[in-house]
Amino acid sequence: MYCPFCNANDTKVTDSRLMRETNQVRRRRECLICKERFTTYETAELALPSIIKRDNRRDAFSEDKLRAGILRALEKRPVSLEQIESSISHIIHKARASGEREIPSKQMGEWVMEELRNLDQVAYVRFAAV
Ligand SMILES: [Zn+2]
Repeated sequence: MYCPFCNANDTKVTDSRLMRETNQVRRRRECLICKERFTTYETAELALPSIIKRDNRRDAFSEDKLRAGILRALEKRPVSLEQIESSISHIIHKARASGEREIPSKQMGEWVMEELRNLDQVAYVRFAAV
């Protein structure tokens, strides 16, 4: 954490507390160089990342598009909707847990492949071919 007063990159946390109403962590910090004190509020980044497409444009994360891609690969395959939904939630979990603000579509594709490989071999090969 950089000091906002002198830009030193070393600050010490002197107090830390969870604020229940907002789920933020409030931290008192002190700069080791200029001794100024300041407060930070931290919130977990739970928003879903944007997708960086192959042509470098950015696209909002879309659960519907993700589902459509998976359903297309699984067309007429003996896989239940429950299994599909659970795969989708695995992928969304990975996207959130990555902590990235942007994820290449290639990475998303790999996560989808991992799920399809467990669900259905034919769908996996179909998807890999696209
Ligand atoms: Zn400072």
